[in-house]
Amino acid sequence: MSDHAVNTQLLIGGQWRNAADGRTIAVLDPATAELIGHVAHAGKADLEQVVAGAATGFAAWRALTAWDRFVIMRKAANLLRERAETIGRIMSREQGKPLAQAVMEINGAAGIIEYFGEEGRRLNDELIPARVPNVEQRVLRRPVGVVAAFTPWNFPVNQIARKLGAALGAGCAVIVKAPEDTPASPAELIRCFCDAGIPAGAVSLVYGEPAEISEYLIAHPVVRKISFTGSTPVGKHLAALAGAQMKPVTMELGGHGPVIVCPDADLDVAAERLAAAKFRNAGQVCIAPTRFLLHRDIAPAFVEKFKAQMSALKVGNGLQDGVTMGPVVSERRLKALTELVEDARQKGAELWQPEIALPNKGFFFPPTMVCKPTLEMRLLNEEPFGPIAIMDEYSELESAVREANRLPYGLAAYVYTRNERTERLLGEALEAGMVAVNHHGLGAPEVPFGGMKDSGYGTEGGPEALRAHTIIRLVCSQHD
Ligand code: NAD
Repeated sequence: MSDHAVNTQLLIGGQWRNAADGRTIAVLDPATAELIGHVAHAGKADLEQVVAGAATGFAAWRALTAWDRFVIMRKAANLLRERAETIGRIMSREQGKPLAQAVMEINGAAGIIEYFGEEGRRLNDELIPARVPNVEQRVLRRPVGVVAAFTPWNFPVNQIARKLGAALGAGCAVIVKAPEDTPASPAELIRCFCDAGIPAGAVSLVYGEPAEISEYLIAHPVVRKISFTGSTPVGKHLAALAGAQMKPVTMELGGHGPVIVCPDADLDVAAERLAAAKFRNAGQVCIAPTRFLLHRDIAPAFVEKFKAQMSALKVGNGLQDGVTMGPVVSERRLKALTELVEDARQKGAELWQPEIALPNKGFFFPPTMVCKPTLEMRLLNEEPFGPIAIMDEYSELESAVREANRLPYGLAAYVYTRNERTERLLGEALEAGMVAVNHHGLGAPEVPFGGMKDSGYGTEGGPEALRAHTIIRLVCSQHD
């Protein structure tokens, strides 16, 4: 075990504690594969207490005014900013991403929390004019209740901030089931809320066996809403469990981002921005560009420019200066990526990897370009979730759109063009919750963030995200 062990506890009813039966899960540094600490593994007894604590926390949190809730959320956001460098180091260590990316994620999360705290002050009730005299029709918008939020390891802090922000801003209490691969940075995020003075139980934190926790929480009558970010198969399973309990869900699932590079695109800009978006967080990003659909006239030139960008990557331990791409999060992910690329190779793909040295320990996967893809390859159908760019060509824009829309995923899609007409046309034609043209600035707190088709439903940005954590009720009265 390292000198700087990062051990993580559960937060139950406002108390940080170990699991009742003392069980833990090992946490590894993906850059070295070494043990760096343990996270508490909640059992049934812990889950019972967490729900009881959340019920109390909800009563206390909703009783505050929207202004008082905002003040606490703003304070938590400011604490997060103050601690960004320290928490960033923890995140980089347990997740692998370069420190600069970790710090940027944490500052971004602070902005999300602050936005939702502010937006919570604008959750107005409504007075609807009646059709008959002396009748008053009031529409009340109230917090839905205790929310169970399940979040993944790729953005350990940001993914929680979106769920916490929207739920707390609406006046809900939240039980977070955070990722066991990367537990310590989420705990530090939640500590900011505790230190900002949030009532005990308004936020709780558990780890353990994901299926056991989700089955328990989704079925529990105190829990009134489910929010999940992760893979499509797990999302469908949890949505079905929630459906059986008549509970609303927000689902932010996988993607297989298509990119259409038109013949009129600025290829230098496209190659630079797309490479930055592709290899950020070692490609473990649900909105990462993945299927590159290149107009055949510019395909060879674009591929060369993209290779140059790949060759400039510095792969290594995220805590080392200058590193731009770290390892993938786990041996599980390394194996999955290796199998996907091997499948493509066996089915005739041409692979290209830059000549850069990889560290000889840890879970490193090289930046990889896959050319000459065919639809039989698993990579063309399954979300790779890694530093893999698939290069394909098209002649007619219609066929590029058909390929972009072929998969059941519909999260993010990208277009590079200098033609406004093409931009409008593709903005309508691409089946994706988010379409970005010549840029990658998705994810600002005030705009929608979410998908369609198998990429899920609901949004995690903007006022709609907050409203999804409320119920509306009518109270009408006659004053004779
Ligand atoms: P996975 O499907 O095993 O797990 C994904 C996440 O869901 C993890 O955080 C896990 O703890 C959680 N989970 C799994 N089963 C659960 C259950 N029954 N109840 C509650 N939570 C559960 O996959 P993985 O190996 O961790 O990641 C692989 C795939 O997950 C990726 O290829 C990608 O498609 C997807 N993923 C998507 C996002 C995203 O941002 N949308 C984030 C992480 C992973």
